[in-house]
Amino acid sequence: MRCSVVAVGTELLLGQIVDTNSSWLGEQLAAAGIDSLFQVKVGDNLGRIVTTLRATLNDADAIIICGGLGPTHDDITREAIAEIMGVELELNDEVALVIEQMFTARGRRMPENNLRQAMVPRGAKIIEQRRGTAPGLICPVGDKVMYAVPGVPFELYEMFERAILPDLLVRSGEASVIKSRVLRTWGDSESGLNERLVGVINELEKVGNPTLAFLASGWEGIKVRLTAKANTESQAIELLDVWDAKVRAEVGEIVFGVDDQNMEAVVLQLLRDKKMSLGVAESVTGGLVSGRLTAIAGASEIFRGAIVSYDF
Ligand code: ATP
Repeated sequence: MRCSVVAVGTELLLGQIVDTNSSWLGEQLAAAGIDSLFQVKVGDNLGRIVTTLRATLNDADAIIICGGLGPTHDDITREAIAEIMGVELELNDEVALVIEQMFTARGRRMPENNLRQAMVPRGAKIIEQRRGTAPGLICPVGDKVMYAVPGVPFELYEMFERAILPDLLVRSGEASVIKSRVLRTWGDSESGLNERLVGVINELEKVGNPTLAFLASGWEGIKVRLTAKANTESQAIELLDVWDAKVRAEVGEIVFGVDDQNMEAVVLQLLRDKKMSLGVAESVTGGLVSGRLTAIAGASEIFRGAIVSYDF
C-alpha cells in the first residue's frame, strides 16, 4: 500500500500556514508501516486540484486530501473529487441534518452555504463529523481510494485515527481488524520516552505487530499509541494488553490516562472517587485551567469554582 498526501489551500502556497498536516500524516503512515510516496501542496483552483489528484493517484494506491471541505466558494475539494470519480455531487440528507442540528444546538441560524458541506460525490462513503461541520469522505476510484478530510488539524487527526487508518490497513490486506490504544503520558520528553522504551521498540520491530508511535500533543502530553492488527477484535485486544503491559513496565508511573481520558477528566475522576471537591485559584493562565475542567461533562459535581486573578 503506497499512500500520498495532497494538502489543499492557497494559504499553504503563500506561506501563511505551515503544512503541519502532511508532516503529521507522514509520521502516522510510517508508524503504521504504510509507504508514503508524495506530499504535494496545491492552491484552491479546481483545474489544478484535479490535475494534482490525477497525477498523484496515478502512482499511489491511496491519497489523503486535506483541506478545502469548508462551506465557502473556494472550498472545492468535493468538486475536484467528483470530477476524478466521474460522478455528480449529491446532497446527503443525513449530513445536512447533522450540520443543521449543530447550528440549532448553538442557537445559530445555518447559512445556506453550509449545505455545500453536505454535498457528497455519488459512491463516496461518509466519515461522520464529530468535531467540525464537514464530514470526511472515502472515495473509491477503481481499486484505488481517495480520502478527504478537513484541514483543521484536530478534525483531521480524529478522522484519520478513527476511519482512514483502519480502512487503509484493511485495504492493504494486512488485517481484518485494526485496534489502537493510546497511553497518555506526562512528565518526560519524547526523546526521553524513546530512550526508556528502546527495548520495547526493538522487540516490536522484530515482531512487526503491533506498531508503536509517539504523538507529541502539547498540553495533552505525549501519547504512546499502539496499533494492533489481527483477525478478530479479541485477538487485537489481547495483543494490545500484552504490549500495553510492556510499555507500562518501563514508563507506567507517567501514564495518566488511556485513549480519550485527558488530564482534566482523570483529575476529576480521582476527586470523584475520593469524594472530594475542587476549587482553583489561577493567575497568568487567565482561566485556562477552569476552562479545561468545566469542559468535562459532570464537572459541576466536583468543581466548585475559580478565582482568576490576573493582576496581583
Ligand atoms: P473547514 O471544513 O473546517 O472549513 P477545510 O477543510 O475547509 O476546513 P481549510 O479551510 O482548508 O479546511 O483550512 C481550515 C484551517 O485549517 C486553516 O485556516 C488552517 O488553520 C488549518 N489548516 C488547513 N490546512 C492545513 C495544513 N495543511 N496544515 C496545517 N493546518 C492546516
